[in-house]
Formats: sequence, C-alpha cells, structure tokens
Amino acid sequence: MAERWSVIAARYAMLETTLSEAYYRWEFYGEPDGPARLDYFFWLLQSPSETILVDTGFHPDAGARRGRTTLIEPAAAMERLGVNSGTVKRILVTHLHWDHTGNLDVLPDAELLVPQVELDFWMSPMGRRGQFTGPSEPAELDYVRAAQDAGRVTPLVGGQEVAPGVRVVHVGGHTPGQMMVEVRGNGAPPVVLASDAVHFYDELEHERPFAVIADLAEMYEAYDTLRALPGDLVPGHDPAVMERYPRVNDFAVEIR
Ligand SMILES: [Zn+2]
Repeated sequence: MAERWSVIAARYAMLETTLSEAYYRWEFYGEPDGPARLDYFFWLLQSPSETILVDTGFHPDAGARRGRTTLIEPAAAMERLGVNSGTVKRILVTHLHWDHTGNLDVLPDAELLVPQVELDFWMSPMGRRGQFTGPSEPAELDYVRAAQDAGRVTPLVGGQEVAPGVRVVHVGGHTPGQMMVEVRGNGAPPVVLASDAVHFYDELEHERPFAVIADLAEMYEAYDTLRALPGDLVPGHDPAVMERYPRVNDFAVEIR
C-alpha cells in the first residue's frame, strides 16, 4: 500500500556559468555559447510515517573553494525544514558527487542508503583517478566508508522499493551508480527525482548531455529510461524547478 508522500525541493546554492562549460562538447551543436545557470538542491520526502532526506548538498567550505554561491547553508535549510536526528532516520544518497554528499554529518546516526554500484566504484582505485577526482570530495568518501564500516550504510540496487511508494531507479551515465527516485502518488502521476541523471529539462528535451560523464552511452540510455517513466520529472540542477512549483518558503518549493 503506497503512502501519501509530499516532495520538497530545497535550493541552497547556484553557479553562473556558460553553455559550453555546462554541456558536454557544446561546440558539437553549432550554436553560439551563452550564459547558463546551475542551481543546487537537496530533496525531502515526507509521509505520515517517515521523512527521508534525499542527498545533503555540498559543504559550504567545498562550495566556496569551488566558486559556488551558497544561498543558504544546507544545514540551516535542513533545520528550517524540520530535519533533525529526531525526524530523519534515513538519508538516501543518489550518487557520491561532492554536491550531494556534504553535510552527511548533520545527522550522524542516520542510516545511509547508497547505491551499491556507487560504493563499489568510488571506493575502488578507478574512482580516485584523474578526472573522476574532480566531482568528489575524498574526505566525504572516507566518511561514507567509515559509516559503512560502522554498519550504518545500506546498499541500494536498482528497482528497490525503499519505502512503500518510493522506488530507486538505476541509470548510469553521469556516475556509474546514479539513482533516480520515483515517488508514487495516490492517484496522481509519480514524481521522478532525476537527481543528476539529467541536470536540466533541456538536457532531456534536446538530448544534450551535461559535461560530467562517466559513460556517454549509458547517459543516452538514462534518457530512454526517463522517457519511459511516466510522471513529473524533476531535474537535479535546473533553476526552472523553482518557478514551476509553489514556494513553501524563500528557498524551497513543494513538488507534491
Ligand atoms: Zn553529480
């Protein structure tokens, strides 16, 4: 029996960039370069019986070091949304990139639901090579490893139902174990939190992969998977998310 879930998207940061920085090989499309903006989110799923935090944003220090503009520190945003050790027992981590794994220590006792493929990849020597080190924070990967050693990590596999009405869908592409989160509605179409399977609405509409890629063919396959999923797609970094849904406060919108 699916529960009734509300879905909140909280925007905590932004980056002004360019199309040629944001998209993989932008020059291939033969269009002029121009401005692009990334917004940074975490998400919150709430039912009558549980609140699940989906990703934890980047740590403000890492954001500053990498030139991002923090709008509200994720820990403060979480607090204002009522996220604390008493209300949230599980954090679902969609993939192990730095802007999704900062602040895990805000809930030091929470169970971490982490894709098995992500654990395998980022803990392997390959996950620490060259280009792969750019979008990860070694200390945060170490944190996940320590949590795993402490028995606090539950590996996720694609298709798994993590709560009644909440299912993870594995796609590769952006990272080897990238998970999307499908939240079924009672009668309404599901909400599909794509996380970084697609950063922008435009990425899927025009099949223009984002610049950070682990496997290009799997990226295109992820687009196919998304198109086959009915529901309300929520990309991971599109500023338009804040315009398409009603505000719950100055930094968050209610998707459902
Ligand atoms: Zn990512």
